[in-house]
Amino acid sequence: MTAKSVSLNEYRPRSELVVERKAVTKPKFPVIDMHTHFGPLVLGENYTERYDTAREVERFRAAGIKRVVNLELVWGAELDRLLEKIHPYGDFITTFSSVDVSRLDEPGFETYVLRTLTEAKGKGVRGLKFWKDLSLATRDEIGKYIALDDPRLQVIWAAAAELGLVVLHHVADPVAFFKPVDQYNERYEELSKVPDWSFCRPGLYSFEQLMEQQEAMIRDNPGTTFIIAHGGSYSENLGCVSRWLDEYPNMYIDIAARINEFGRQPYTARRFFERHQDRILFGTDAAAGCAFNYQPYFEFLETWNESFPYSSGEIPGQGRWRIYGIGLDDSVLEKVYYKNAERLGL
Ligand SMILES: [Zn+2]
Repeated sequence: MTAKSVSLNEYRPRSELVVERKAVTKPKFPVIDMHTHFGPLVLGENYTERYDTAREVERFRAAGIKRVVNLELVWGAELDRLLEKIHPYGDFITTFSSVDVSRLDEPGFETYVLRTLTEAKGKGVRGLKFWKDLSLATRDEIGKYIALDDPRLQVIWAAAAELGLVVLHHVADPVAFFKPVDQYNERYEELSKVPDWSFCRPGLYSFEQLMEQQEAMIRDNPGTTFIIAHGGSYSENLGCVSRWLDEYPNMYIDIAARINEFGRQPYTARRFFERHQDRILFGTDAAAGCAFNYQPYFEFLETWNESFPYSSGEIPGQGRWRIYGIGLDDSVLEKVYYKNAERLGL
């Protein structure tokens, strides 16, 4: 039979592999989801109308989640609005807020940072969230993108350490987002659908520069605890993340939206989770009011299942491959699921 010509966007191969697959609908231990969104960052300015807080708490609990950490770029009155929206579920929803880094060149920036962080802490905030807008979008007064290791940011990391606030950064994005969007790009389908996600533009920091800045920030602020989201920014290269974790005891990572990466290198990933079992935090990037799917996360961490989808869509959103479980031992699983987060006071 001659093959029918099929274009890439029509291609929907169905796996014929037949292997045993253990179902995991509930996690083996209670879970703290370190990486969720209940505010404007993902849901937009009208977020308060987009979900009912009591119903959301119920939905997360039903999935086996005992607490979530809500990561938002809010401060001042916006922080108040967010805390009011999640009230009275502040025990279930731990909030991280931020500071306005675009005020960097204003006189009194240091005072502003100290005041904002002290106020946030007083309102129950447990940590700070920074996003890729720093480094990749926000420019200073001379039009330069603000590097993560910019000495003007030092006041933030120092104040966080002093106030006992942990700092979570979403620094880069997948390496492929920094490469040309062509036939060699492993995230081609995604980038051709959402061209805005490409950072392959002149004038922007390269992925390698961002990683150097990230490392310098962690190295130069040993008293500050940094959680580098999304597998430490570089889950495509766990050897590299492993070296950072070995070198910098103040560095942690979360696994949010990266089981597609961890799960396509199961032998390396399992060794990585074993070695760094005290520094890896569970997270997903789930957002209030939106569909979420914890099952592949639990399946990846708990089972030895082979070649299963990491997402529910017909075409996997983060590359056309399947993942493999790493069957973590209970003692490691407990740390990743909740003990490490609790140790950080989350
Ligand atoms: Zn996120």
